[in-house]
Amino acid sequence: MMSKLHLRPHAVGLGMTSQRVRDRLVERLRENGIRNENVLNAIRTVPRHLFVDEALATRAYEDTALPIGHGQTISQPWVVARMTEALLENAPKTAAPTRVLEVGTGSGYQAAVLAALGMEVYTVERIGDLLRQARKRFRTLGLNIRSKHDDGRAGWPEHAPFDAIIVTAAGPALVAALIEQLAVGASLVAPVGGASSQSLVKLTKRADGSVEEAKLAAVAFVPLLSGTLD
Ligand code: SAH
Repeated sequence: MMSKLHLRPHAVGLGMTSQRVRDRLVERLRENGIRNENVLNAIRTVPRHLFVDEALATRAYEDTALPIGHGQTISQPWVVARMTEALLENAPKTAAPTRVLEVGTGSGYQAAVLAALGMEVYTVERIGDLLRQARKRFRTLGLNIRSKHDDGRAGWPEHAPFDAIIVTAAGPALVAALIEQLAVGASLVAPVGGASSQSLVKLTKRADGSVEEAKLAAVAFVPLLSGTLD
């Protein structure tokens, strides 16, 4: 299944962004409990420095969130890895690619990691400027990711049901429209809470339509907001 990434030579950086630096990040994630080798490989493969401003590129392989403009952040690699790992636990084990919806494209990094795992990615972002930059990165890296500029709390009903849904901004509660667009047996992973305290929640839809919820970790995400911005 690894890897759908066909990197063009100019897109692969040197120096501070070398493979050695990325390998060190992967070791750190492993020490901090990330076990899924496919996820670790995807993080090793996707050039995170291309998802931040050039001025921050030297910090791209630190395990930390970084600003991407408009008051938003690219998530911490550990959080990206943990959420991806949680989604994969319940993704269907069939030959067809896992269809995943992401709410909150931001830099596009999480979407690229999902694509590197061979998933069919649909991502929605409410800030037009961020989405334009993310699309440019997808093109540079040759990633086939479907995206739209919209309020992602409505999901993407035309492409539902999804085998996995990931929300990368924190709301006060899980969004009903998103749960509706989840396939039976599939999971939604989302941060839930306010500005001072949030948990990463994993919800799995059972065959009878009921849901099972588990708390995975304490996290700190930017807020899930309504409406769109150019
Ligand atoms: N997954 C991103 C994380 C970006 S931060 C990455 O890998 O870089 C969260 C993003 O969610 C921000 O870009 C923010 O604008 C966006 N967002 C917040 N509320 C949203 C909503 N209702 N619909 C779509 N995007 C939203």
